[in-house]
Amino acid sequence: MRTNQARPVADPYDVLVVGGGAAGLGAALALGRSRRSVLVIDAGDPRNAPAGHVHNYLGREGTPPLELLATGRGEVAAYGVEVVSGRVSVVRPWRREGIGFEVVTDEEREVAARRVVVATGLTDVLPELSGLAERWGRDVLHCPYCHGWEVRGQAVAVLATNARAAHQALLFSQLSDDVAVVLAAGAPAPTDVELERLSVRGVRVVADPPVEVVVERDALHGLRLASGELLRCDAVVVAPAFRARAAFLAPLGLVPQSVEIGGEVLGTAVPAEPSGATTVPGVWVAGNVTEPMAQVLGAAAGGLRVGAALNLDLITEDTDAGLVAQRARLQEELFEQPAWEQRYGAAAPVWSGRVNPQLEAEAASLAPGHALDVGSGEGADVLWLAGRGWTITGIDFSTVALRKAAEHAEAAGVGQRTEWRHVDVRGFDPGADPHGERWDLVTSQYMHLPDGGMLELTRRLAGGVAQGGTLLVVGHHPDDHATGLRHGHESFLFTPADLLPALDPALWEIEVAEVRPRTVTTPDGEVVEVGDSVLRARRR
Ligand SMILES: Cc1cc2nc3c(=O)[nH]c(=O)nc-3n(C[C@H](O)[C@H](O)[C@H](O)COP(=O)(O)OP(=O)(O)OC[C@H]3O[C@@H](n4cnc5c(N)ncnc54)[C@H](O)[C@@H]3O)c2cc1C
Repeated sequence: MRTNQARPVADPYDVLVVGGGAAGLGAALALGRSRRSVLVIDAGDPRNAPAGHVHNYLGREGTPPLELLATGRGEVAAYGVEVVSGRVSVVRPWRREGIGFEVVTDEEREVAARRVVVATGLTDVLPELSGLAERWGRDVLHCPYCHGWEVRGQAVAVLATNARAAHQALLFSQLSDDVAVVLAAGAPAPTDVELERLSVRGVRVVADPPVEVVVERDALHGLRLASGELLRCDAVVVAPAFRARAAFLAPLGLVPQSVEIGGEVLGTAVPAEPSGATTVPGVWVAGNVTEPMAQVLGAAAGGLRVGAALNLDLITEDTDAGLVAQRARLQEELFEQPAWEQRYGAAAPVWSGRVNPQLEAEAASLAPGHALDVGSGEGADVLWLAGRGWTITGIDFSTVALRKAAEHAEAAGVGQRTEWRHVDVRGFDPGADPHGERWDLVTSQYMHLPDGGMLELTRRLAGGVAQGGTLLVVGHHPDDHATGLRHGHESFLFTPADLLPALDPALWEIEVAEVRPRTVTTPDGEVVEVGDSVLRARRR
């Protein structure tokens, strides 16, 4: 086992696994193979350590417990998982953004990780009986599947300290014809139904309470009973209380709960979803700490399940964070000249080449004069207005778009009535010069600026409108976000009402302030309804 100093708190692991038994190593294997940075901290006392061999583990039947774990540690190390010796004493939330934990060990090692897998197993709390604990895992047993075969045909005494005794005796009666239930002092007696069923299986009941485990030549010899008699047996079966090893989770408010089977309290376990997720986001559990009945194979499988679910959890978190960053970046780029130069530089046109519908609806009845088109793009609106007799200036910050628009105007025969200017509207303030140029129509079709910037732009554009002239501002309504079409663009969508504060009522008559439905076809071919925010105002 590696005992190197784990990486500092400032450089967190993806996952810290507390406990390097079957469950913890099972989780670490799945995570290591998923290229996660993983640290396993293990106190080195797996529950089955007293037993000579692991049974019912397909493919590794009869392997000594510590040998199985040593093999597992080698396997996880091959995928970059670090395993260190230590006992975790505290797990607390870290003091930074997002989900994560700081972990302290008895050895005063401090480690930080985005997620924690708790795979610390359980403590078997044995019944009080002189000499019993010393034989635990050797000839004092609890589970017919762990060591039942090894005591087949032998004399088995089931020490009855709780209501599980009759159940255990029936199980061991499959393995031996010599099974006795020995009632401990104060233990609940088997019910009449249980007695009947035990008798069918040839199990006898001894009502003389045991006082001592008798050992001869390092082998169990029998139970000394209160009467002084010796009950000869080769193995004693007990029903320990299972106590989850999770006291260090208390600072997170995660406390083991009592576990029952058939109304009988087995002990405690940390409750979890089938995936292994606990009620504390970021803390996962696997193996006996949450499933007291799980055997080694089941604990390892539980670890694998948690490792896989947790890897997905981290992928999801990283993807969500990446999405937010990507959208922010795209939004940033959307307002910068290089992105638009690139867009207009493509061979295919960006826009339809037709006049925008709200401009057509609002300007068709206006007498032609001198107009300004803000964000003129490939020039379709300018060409339409010029075709109706307007002299018009198109402004845009894309030089590529301006060039293409000018070519379109020449080709359409309206070059004489059009002018193109390279302008970034973010610094455009025509009203700032009291003697500056004024237009009879200032139109802005689907120009958007982030963070409420359209209100400020509307105020500045209004300064360029001649007396009696029209200001027409059209854009996408915030409800469009629900269509998925304005993905990531929600911060700069606007309603007509959003723009009204830009216009002094003493100077402006609001002619239209409404949302107009329009159907569009999405890139997926779906026809959806969107809303256009339309503000038309006349300068008094
Ligand atoms: C005597 C006996 C014999 C058994 N025989 C078999 C058998 O033959 N076949 C079978 O399938 N099952 C057997 N079992 C059951 C088996 O022990 C469990 O199924 C298995 O150990 C559960 O694995 P786990 O990883 O959940 O917990 P464990 O194996 O108990 O591993 C938990 C690990 O966490 C570590 N740990 C605990 N607390 C901390 C902490 N605070 N900080 C750091 N590390 C910590 C421990 O040191 C340990 O290494 C037997 C059980 C017993 C009691």
